[in-house]
Amino acid sequence: MTKILHRSIGAALPRAVAGKGIYITDSDGRSYIDGSGGAAVSCLGHNHPEVLEAMKAQMERISYAHTSFFTTDVAEQLAEQLVELAPEELDYVYLVSGGSEAVEAALKMARQYFVEIGQPQRRHIIARRQSYHGNTIGALATGGNAWRRAQFQPILPETHHVSPCYAYRDMQVGETPNAYAARLAAELEAKIIELGSDQVMAFVAEPVVGATLGAVGPVADYFRRVRQVCDKYGILLILDEVMCGMGRTGTIFALEQEGIVPDLVTIAKGLGGGFQPIGAVILSEKIYRAFAEGSGLFQHGHTYIGHPIAAAAANKVVEILRRPALMENVINMGERLQAGLDAALGQSPHVGDIRGRGLFRGIEIVADKDTKMPFDPTQKINSKIKREAMQRGLMCYPMGGTIDGAHGDHVLLAPPYIIQPEQIDLIVDRLTAAVNAAVSN
Ligand code: PLP
Repeated sequence: MTKILHRSIGAALPRAVAGKGIYITDSDGRSYIDGSGGAAVSCLGHNHPEVLEAMKAQMERISYAHTSFFTTDVAEQLAEQLVELAPEELDYVYLVSGGSEAVEAALKMARQYFVEIGQPQRRHIIARRQSYHGNTIGALATGGNAWRRAQFQPILPETHHVSPCYAYRDMQVGETPNAYAARLAAELEAKIIELGSDQVMAFVAEPVVGATLGAVGPVADYFRRVRQVCDKYGILLILDEVMCGMGRTGTIFALEQEGIVPDLVTIAKGLGGGFQPIGAVILSEKIYRAFAEGSGLFQHGHTYIGHPIAAAAANKVVEILRRPALMENVINMGERLQAGLDAALGQSPHVGDIRGRGLFRGIEIVADKDTKMPFDPTQKINSKIKREAMQRGLMCYPMGGTIDGAHGDHVLLAPPYIIQPEQIDLIVDRLTAAVNAAVSN
């Protein structure tokens, strides 16, 4: 019997009692490889001694001090580290307690920015279909995940969506990646003009789409063109790195691989590594200055923003992420994971695409490889894969609705960055067995 309203009522969840490195152990003594870092959270594995030590040290100093009264050394140090790592121009940090809060704050910053600079008519948000930006009302409205939005649609603020950059399904036969990127940029521009180019405030996108599409990165040149379109009409570019950021794709920020600088970046998940709930918005000097020279504040805030223990944990996580050997491991183990999946599942008639960057990989499951036809959603292939994988001691992150919110299945892998080669091979073996079992019964 449970008194918790669990995510799925009636589901028999194992009880997690311990975590160490890449493993979680349940109350029956079974252990699971955390092949998805939960939901791309546990980037350093479980119970990392250095992070625990940093949290303990902070707890012994002070656990909480409201941010309208005090700042703390750990919060200041964390902000400094993030600014050092972020591309030039992204010079200030706003701390929050998770990904949805980061997206909400970024949207409100965008809106307040235009009020401060005398363009209060700008109000439209454009994002992409098949994206996820969080579950609070504003973040949910921004996301283009049809299934997650459906029942809440009547209470969501108006937002607008354009096509995702999803080459596996949407790049046309004979179309070059460059031409595809140009087509998508033209679609964004047409949407801006339709809404009134001086009425749009922000375009929001995940550099590598996580939960909704399964580790889908952009084609080369896509974000460069998007940046140009935003600049042409004075629109802010918000990149949501809540899932793909903090080293997940082999660089601290996924956007580093795109050669552009957004106006705002949201991060969370890997920032706290699961040790503490924390997120952040990193904002440009331009936005900070508009606030500083205008009203002198950002009209926002939550009780727990800048929480000292969360800041201490994240400060240590970021310090560890900066060690070059760790990012090298993300790249090397990511390549090993891709190669292992290609070899084990690449020929499967039910695996359409294996993709991703660093330790962020996605496998798209199909009923027919040649036509890319998905399984009938009633077969719940993604739920079956999750069940089969858990039975084999592997946590992975399968989802349905890959194509349009209703059709399509994929599996997301996002293991901790400390993973070793033989553990990658175990993930490949267990996932292959789980996928094969799920598609054959
Ligand atoms: N943005 C992206 C890209 C995400 O993947 C998520 C969560 O999966 C969120 C925002 C929301 O983050 P949180 O669940 O911490 O509120």
